[in-house]
Amino acid sequence: MKHLAILTSGGDAPGMNAAIRAVVRTAVYEGLRISAVYRGYQGLIENDIVEVGARSVANIIQRGGTILRTARSKPFMEPAGRATAAANLAAHDIDGLVVIGGDGSFRGAYRIFEEHGFPVVGIPATIDNDIYGTDVSIGFNTAINVALDAVDRLRDTAASHDRLFLVEVMGRHSGHIALHVGVAGGAEAILLPEVKTGADEVADMIVKAQERGKSSSIVIVAEGAYEGGAMNLQARVRERCGYEVRTVILGHTQRGGTPSTRDRVLASRLGFHAVRTLLDGGSGVMVGVDKRGIERVPLKDVWEKHKDIDWELVELAGVLAI
Ligand code: ADP
Repeated sequence: MKHLAILTSGGDAPGMNAAIRAVVRTAVYEGLRISAVYRGYQGLIENDIVEVGARSVANIIQRGGTILRTARSKPFMEPAGRATAAANLAAHDIDGLVVIGGDGSFRGAYRIFEEHGFPVVGIPATIDNDIYGTDVSIGFNTAINVALDAVDRLRDTAASHDRLFLVEVMGRHSGHIALHVGVAGGAEAILLPEVKTGADEVADMIVKAQERGKSSSIVIVAEGAYEGGAMNLQARVRERCGYEVRTVILGHTQRGGTPSTRDRVLASRLGFHAVRTLLDGGSGVMVGVDKRGIERVPLKDVWEKHKDIDWELVELAGVLAI
């Protein structure tokens, strides 16, 4: 292995830049050439590939988003698009690829590995934290800190005005963000896509909380927890309990911002180990982290297996909201 390439793909996540820096610098340290691919798989197809060095990634570890930009690429979904991508990699004498992204990006990475025998390693980056094979993915910690900060501010207002706030956080299919923010923010209820809760049930919870002497409430709602989102829920809850209800949708604010210490350290570790994995002859895998340390997980497992939420947190959230 002499020449690696790196790209970011799919949704952006804070900490991607720290991972790019780690990959580039580890490659240089190991005496390899390294090229940056701009705009994900689309850039790979359009040959938007530039060789970089250790200094090219100076001053980026603290920046959110991704300096390589990211894109969604329809042509890469087709074998012809992937053949062009593989030909471009070969034309640059590139013999290994690191893909930083979510499970969609890993499906693409696996295709190029399988169809063209091209060595690839994935690095998990998504604020949703729903990637199987790693306890945590790059961007999650920053996203929950950003969301929690908003919840803490809303709590001040909620407590001053006897109000119910519905706070919608990201998570169309998984409740990892909602669960962590809900527990850390002391939410009265947490609505998750994994546990369907109806508006009547939420209204009942609020009324009962009032009866127990609570004068303000914060309910965290994952995007995918209620049909039509928190706005829809607001109308139904107000109807049922006649309580002042406000909805705040945090939306894309959760994606941006300075990556937290944990995300920077995680990204640096995974970037370093991605290069080491390729050098060891590892391929078709994602590097992840769990209690045992760094793991190499077959890319196929990443989307075929499901990462569950932490049910212990679900239980304790219910107990602590008493
Ligand atoms: P994420 O990586 O954040 O889950 P996406 O699901 O949007 O993001 O995937 C990013 C890109 O990966 C897509 O635009 C596409 O180019 C590529 N990709 C996704 N799924 C596949 C697939 N089944 N086959 C080939 N490429 C794919």
